[in-house]
Order: sequence, then C-alpha cells, then structure tokens
Amino acid sequence: MLRVEDLHVSYGAISALNGISLSVPAGAIVTLIGGNGAGKTTTLHSLSGLIRAARGRVHFAGEDITALAPHHIVARGLCHVPEGRMIFANLSVAENLAMGAYLQRSPAQIAAARDYCFSIFPRLRERLRQNAGTLSGGEQQMLAIARALMSRPKFLMLDEPSLGIAPRLISTIFEKIVEINRDHGTGILLVEQNARLALEISTHAYVLETGHIVMSGPSRELRNNAQLKAAYLGS
Ligand code: ATP
Repeated sequence: MLRVEDLHVSYGAISALNGISLSVPAGAIVTLIGGNGAGKTTTLHSLSGLIRAARGRVHFAGEDITALAPHHIVARGLCHVPEGRMIFANLSVAENLAMGAYLQRSPAQIAAARDYCFSIFPRLRERLRQNAGTLSGGEQQMLAIARALMSRPKFLMLDEPSLGIAPRLISTIFEKIVEINRDHGTGILLVEQNARLALEISTHAYVLETGHIVMSGPSRELRNNAQLKAAYLGS
C-alpha cells in the first residue's frame, strides 16, 4: 500500500535521510525504530509532503505521491499524527475533531467518524467542551489520533505516540492503535523509541540509524535479535 524507494532528505548541508526504502502492505502495522536524530520524524514529514525529498519516490495505493502537497496527500487517505500531538490547545475537543474533518463533505460521514472516535476513545466524548490544552498528555494523544480518524484515513502515520505519556496510558494507546487497524484494515506506520512495545504490535520493523535503514525483518524475529536487544531493548 505504501512504498518508499531510495528517499534522500537534507536540511541545507545536513543530510537527514540517505536513501531509505521501506514498504507497508495493505492492512499491516509496520514500525520504524531508531534513537534520537536517526531521521524518523524526517521520514514521516517527507511522506506527508511537509518536506521535499531531494531524491527518491513515495507510492501510495498505486499512485506516485512524491510531489503532492500535504492536503492532497491527506485527501488520498494518508494521515499523519505528529510528534508532540500538535492539537489546537485553545480550541475545544469538539472543535479539534471538526478540524480533522475539514476535507469531508458528507455530514452523515462526519457524524459516523465522530461516533467511531467516541467508541475508540469514550473519554473524548466526556470532555467535548473542554479546551484541548487542559487535557492530560494521554488524552491529548487520544485527541490527536481521533482528529486524524476524522479524515477517514486508509493509512495512519504515528510519530512517537508514547512520548510524554503516563506509563499506564501508553498500553491503552497501543491497544487502540491495534483496534483501529483491525476495525477498518487501516494501514499503520508507527515511529517509536519504545522499541519493545512497537515490536509487540507490529508485524514488520525497520531500524533507522543516522539516515540509513540498518536492519529490517519480521518484528517477532527482531525482538530476539541480540544486536537490537542490546541497542534498543535494554537487555
Ligand atoms: P527524535 O526521536 O529525537 O525526534 P528523529 O529520529 O525523529 O529523532 P529527525 O528529527 O528526523 O530524527 O532528525 C534527523 C536529523 O536531521 C537530525 O540530525 C536532526 O538534527 C536533523 N534535523 C531535523 N530537523 C531539522 C531542521 N529543521 N533543520 C536542520 N536539521 C534538522
């Protein structure tokens, strides 16, 4: 469904991605693991059209989307949940959800997407009129994912959903990611520093170091890989 070929991205003289290739089959959860500054966020920014690649191609659902603008990429069903959540802090939960549906035209489909968000995250329904900036970190992450769901995505890219979240909520968020994937066959590319959790819910994983993919394979195999364990799993 998503295929990235030989992607190169630089920030001026700094080279952040040096020719990465990866793919995510339809309906799969694939994770991209890597330490600080490895290039994970750059990868997602590039796939969603926020930064232009110097070289390489991105194909989504059979179409070359490399040169498309971000709103055209969202319109095709590829939606990005950014690192740090980037919710609209001064807007209510309801208004944040409405912003996620800005490309949707059908009131019935918008209502159905909202109902689905509430079925996944009932807590958001309880806090509809609350300013999003006053939500807890975990609730803000739920809102960021729900806002993306309002665009009725075929594919979600999640950047560090566990970052800055109370440990007891992290497993809830990860369970919800699996639920969303199962309910609609939504493809997921998950960027995570929490390699242990990411490898538990994904079928396939790529390891990124200084802009290169240095390892990839089925998540079950990588969980037992000695090198990966030493570098990312703390054992
Ligand atoms: P983290 O988990 O710490 O967010 P990351 O794997 O997401 O790391 P990126 O944010 O993609 O890594 O950064 C990759 C490299 O590109 C780093 O060396 C970083 O310093 C550099 N970089 C990122 N954004 C910019 C920018 N706007 N200008 C210059 N260099 C940048």
